[in-house]
Amino acid sequence: MKLRSYVAGTWYEAPDGFTEVASAVDGRPVALVSSAGLNFQRVLDHARTVGGPALRALTFHQRAELIKRLALYLNERKEPFYEVAFDTGATRKDNFVDIDGGIMTLFAFASKARRELPDACVAVDGAIEPLSKGGTFAARHIMTPLHGAAVHINAYNFPSWGMLEKLAPAIIAGVPAIVKPATQSAYVAYAVFQDIIASGILPEGSVQFIAGSFGDLLDRLTGQDVVSFTGSAQTATKLQRTPAIAQNSVRFIAEQDSLNAAILGPDVTIEAPEFELFVKELAREITTKAGQRCTCIRRAIVPRRMIDAVQGALAARLDKFVLGNPRSEKVTMGSLVSQGQRDDVRAAVAQLAQEATIVYGDPAAAPAVVDGDVNAGAYMAPVVLRCDRPLTSARVHSVEAFGPVTTLMAYDSIDEAIEIANRGEGSLVASIFSYDTPTADALVLGIAPFHGRVLVVDRDDAKEQTGHGTPLAPLVHGGPGRAGGGEEMGGIRGVFHYMQRTAVQGTPQRIATVSGVWNPGATETQSPGHPFERSFEELKVGETFYTASREITIADIERFAEFTGDSFYAHMDEAAAKASPFFEGRVAHGYLVLSFAAGLFVRSELGPVLANYGLEDLRFLKPVYPGDAIRVRLTVKAKTPRKPEYGEVRWSVTVFNQNDEIAATYDLLTMNATSAHVPALETVS
Ligand code: NAP
Repeated sequence: MKLRSYVAGTWYEAPDGFTEVASAVDGRPVALVSSAGLNFQRVLDHARTVGGPALRALTFHQRAELIKRLALYLNERKEPFYEVAFDTGATRKDNFVDIDGGIMTLFAFASKARRELPDACVAVDGAIEPLSKGGTFAARHIMTPLHGAAVHINAYNFPSWGMLEKLAPAIIAGVPAIVKPATQSAYVAYAVFQDIIASGILPEGSVQFIAGSFGDLLDRLTGQDVVSFTGSAQTATKLQRTPAIAQNSVRFIAEQDSLNAAILGPDVTIEAPEFELFVKELAREITTKAGQRCTCIRRAIVPRRMIDAVQGALAARLDKFVLGNPRSEKVTMGSLVSQGQRDDVRAAVAQLAQEATIVYGDPAAAPAVVDGDVNAGAYMAPVVLRCDRPLTSARVHSVEAFGPVTTLMAYDSIDEAIEIANRGEGSLVASIFSYDTPTADALVLGIAPFHGRVLVVDRDDAKEQTGHGTPLAPLVHGGPGRAGGGEEMGGIRGVFHYMQRTAVQGTPQRIATVSGVWNPGATETQSPGHPFERSFEELKVGETFYTASREITIADIERFAEFTGDSFYAHMDEAAAKASPFFEGRVAHGYLVLSFAAGLFVRSELGPVLANYGLEDLRFLKPVYPGDAIRVRLTVKAKTPRKPEYGEVRWSVTVFNQNDEIAATYDLLTMNATSAHVPALETVS
């Protein structure tokens, strides 16, 4: 099968220059890959002039909706992807992470974006910063999409997940993507990408696909483009030195090799549940995807007195794995992606063996395989090495054997365990197996600066913990140093990678209009009616309502104390209240102020306000004494659609006393019905 590229709205088949990709299972040719003859300037121009404007015309929520629709579409058509992906050597279980995992990542990004980003084209980052005494000059950071292309270079090991994990944040940010899968498994990415195009869900120009090399594309990048790379540190370093990337300060996010660690705590005995959990995780990590995972445990750091026991228990577990044709139901471990990759792994093991002893498996031997041809496929049995002096060894901390390989390392103290883990010079993930709080805490804090993610496993979270190797969409995926430099793809920060953070300075009104969020000092437009009688669409950002005022008496305070049981001395005892440096005498409860404030603005009739969703940023700034009178200013600060039936309204609430001093401020969140769904009594059965 000749893989085609998808560029400038059409499928392109190269005339020549093909690389033949063989099945990892039986060696038969499965794909021909070439991008020869492509005009890469045209590819970039199409992204910048067609895809970018189309995406930027949409709001974050609209883009997130597209990603969700795409996830639903692919989810219904995923079975053929599994069939194709077997040829990479991966079992069905391995491919679940790649295929279903990729689709789940789309869902996760779509839902996160709708919850955390506004239904607008601009996002704010942080609060408004007042910059002047008179209140006429302020600043706020806004985030806007870059006008270039998101250039995605993916590793071979997760062709579907790797592509979708990068596509979702770029599209949600409003930046078109150009995807280049690794040649070795490009046919899997191609199968998924064909369906992405067939769906017609994403606007034209928002995604393009290059089967084969990138030609001179990287030489044509500008400061508005972003490169997101996954692969080896060697390739990353080479690409980062591309003159255009260096000279134009092109953002370059790298997820690269990582010598991840798992530490068995010194508190763990052979009988402890954590011992078995550790060995089980280790065996699972080496065999899943035949160890071709960026997060795989490469270094198992074990108390010296336990290393023989761990070695024995691990060998017993590994003996149970069945290596062979991933299509066979009997098989629990598949092959490497290619015989070339197996050569690389064997070469890496040879380097490791200069400092460590092979204690399980023989990398050179032809392994027994089930339902497969050992000569035609890229099979390799697990290999375990043991290094008794890891602190005087170097290669075990720097050579990544990207296959079913791990090294056991002995340590004598917690400090040593930390130092060994950190010798990886920056990793994606480390896991700690311990049931002793001081030990686990010391290990977490000792290794955290060198790791993007730290997982602590013990008997209490054993059943529900998600595993050493599983990067979850809302969490950091990335790591410092060798792992790529600390940039992270996960969470909403993954979206922000494709956006520029700009500090906008000006009047509070300018900042409100630019950001779409009302802030104090900006124009207050008088609400045409009571705001609680207006539907989600009718309410306008900046719309303001002032309530009548209400005096607070000592009797109110006493009733409130009796009713709620809150008889804190500052409300009930004049002498004790005076002894506090904050009060001149008895004061009203903060919660009383909030409750009375609500009493001043809520409506008793059924109407568009459906529910109180909570308060944020609450501050009591001035005590309210008996005899004071409070009134409330209520302003619509921002609106976020949630469902067709309702949306979330963020109100800026300010409680003043009779001298117009601010007693309290907070954001109130309410769920408000849209016009077509305002509940009415006759519709209630
Ligand atoms: P690789 O050989 O470094 O290739 C990575 C990508 O770079 C491929 O798409 C490759 O394309 C492309 N590439 C190579 N030279 C290029 C050039 N001159 N211009 C543009 N693109 C170029 O890595 P791999 O073998 O695919 O993947 C295995 C490595 O990835 C391991 O080291 C693993 O640790 C790492 N990895 C890291 C993470 C992470 O999140 N940190 C995740 C997965 C994998 P071709 O295939 O066409 O050469």
